[in-house]
Parts: sequence; structure tokens; C-alpha cells
Amino acid sequence: MKICRFDDDRLGVVKGDEVLDVTPALEVIPPQRWPIARGDPLIANLDRVVERVRALEGAAPRRKLADVKLRSPVPNPTKIVNAPINYQAHIDEAKADPKLGGGRKLNHITDWGLFLKSTSALVGPADGIRLRMLDRRNDHEVELAVVIGRECRKATAANALEFVAGYSIGLDMTIRGPEMPSWRKSVDSYAVCGPWLVTRDEVPDPNVLNLLLWVNGELRQSSNTARMVYNVQKLIEYATGMYTLYPGDLIFSGTPEGVGPVAPGDVITAEIERVGRFDIRVAGYEG
Ligand code: MN
Repeated sequence: MKICRFDDDRLGVVKGDEVLDVTPALEVIPPQRWPIARGDPLIANLDRVVERVRALEGAAPRRKLADVKLRSPVPNPTKIVNAPINYQAHIDEAKADPKLGGGRKLNHITDWGLFLKSTSALVGPADGIRLRMLDRRNDHEVELAVVIGRECRKATAANALEFVAGYSIGLDMTIRGPEMPSWRKSVDSYAVCGPWLVTRDEVPDPNVLNLLLWVNGELRQSSNTARMVYNVQKLIEYATGMYTLYPGDLIFSGTPEGVGPVAPGDVITAEIERVGRFDIRVAGYEG
């Protein structure tokens, strides 16, 4: 099932070029009182929501996909976990370009570990990207986004996929420069997630997916998740060896080669096989 959040917190199911408005399914999410549980309530209750969606979708109002504003399918992750160097060809291009590597050691993902982007950076395709520090290079990075479905600590590669709710497309927007990644990559709107969440059952193997990115129609990135150094299971094992993941937490699994600059006025198109495709507009912060 392709589950989207659209317009003002409406819940949809995507079928072809239409969105079925199944917002009343959100009523199965139990009301919360302080102290609230960590994690995103929509994702924490996704099985129940999906069950109600199936009951509602036959009679649900239909909208054209092109007419709705797609938001991030996960509104409230506790963390956006990122793999900084997880494709060998991207490691090689970063070694060759001092603007990318910043003089840091760059041989293997374990040289850098994982970093976090601020959750306040999270937007959906309809929200657009607003660039800051226009005197610097602002780059696109297309990445498979893994949506964690339930609380997960010390997962193993063997059981890691049991904790996954589904998949989406992540854009890890990045200001290049010497500062810490959590600073340069956490600007408002620099974590794009969309166009929807595809439930795990529709992606039997997340490690065989083509991923592509265009800027103004020009192909910039084209690879396959089979080329990740740490595959999805290994990333979950690696992350949860250090901290607990909660429902709705996102893992941006690293970008392949072909990263490059964008500027106000550009349109980025991102696509991942079996997941979907979206366009997002790039603007300046003031524009
Ligand atoms: Mn990245």
C-alpha cells in the first residue's frame, strides 16, 4: 500500500494517478496524554490504520494526485539517521573533490559512523526546498529512506527488516563546507521525504532498487541500492548497536555518486524503483 499525507494532514492511499482520501482511518490512533510515547503515532499504529483504510477505501473520495500537496509521509520521527558515505563510487568522488570530503578520512562508512539531521528539517515534496548560504555549494543527495515501524534496539542483520514499516525517497540536502554535517544538513527543508510511504510488503528486497535524480530534467544520479556498502539490514544493525530506533524514525541510507549543486529556480526529480517519484522546487530562503 502507498500511504501519503497530503494537504492539511489528510491521509491518502495512492492508486495510479489518484489519491483516495481515507483520513477517517486516523481515528484508530489512540489519543495521547503526557507523558507521550516516543515515536510517530501514525507509524506506531500503522497496522491498525491500514486495516481501517482497507475498510474505507471502496467508498473513499478520490482526488487527482496532481491536485494534492504531498507532505512528508512521516510527520514526527524522533531521529533522521543518515549514512554519510555508503556507496563506494560516492566515496571515490568525495576523495577526488576536496569540497565534498573536507579533508576527512574517507575510506569506509565506519570512519564516519552515522549522523543525525534535525527533525525540523523534514518536509514533503509540496513544501519545496529553501536554500541558505547561497555563496556555498548546495548539493542534492538522493537516498533510499527506510521508515522504522516499531521500537528497535540491538537488531541483527537477520531480523532487521522485521522492524521496517516501509520505504520512501529521501533527499539529504547539503551545504558543503567544513562544519559538522548535523549543522550543514539540518537547515529547515533540507530533509525531504516523499512522495509517500510504500509498505514493506511491496518491497521484498530493498537492496536491489534503482534510484535516480534529475535537475531540470538532466540526469545527475543513477545507481542501485545493491551498491550500498552497508545494506539496509546492516545499517539498522549498525544504528541500533548504538541507540534505540522508534516508530517513524527515518534512515537515509546514503547517496550514490553524481551529487552536484542546485540553485533557486531548479526543479529536482527523484525516483526509486517500487517506491515512486516526485518533483520538488528549489527556492532561495527569501524567495
Ligand atoms: Mn547523504
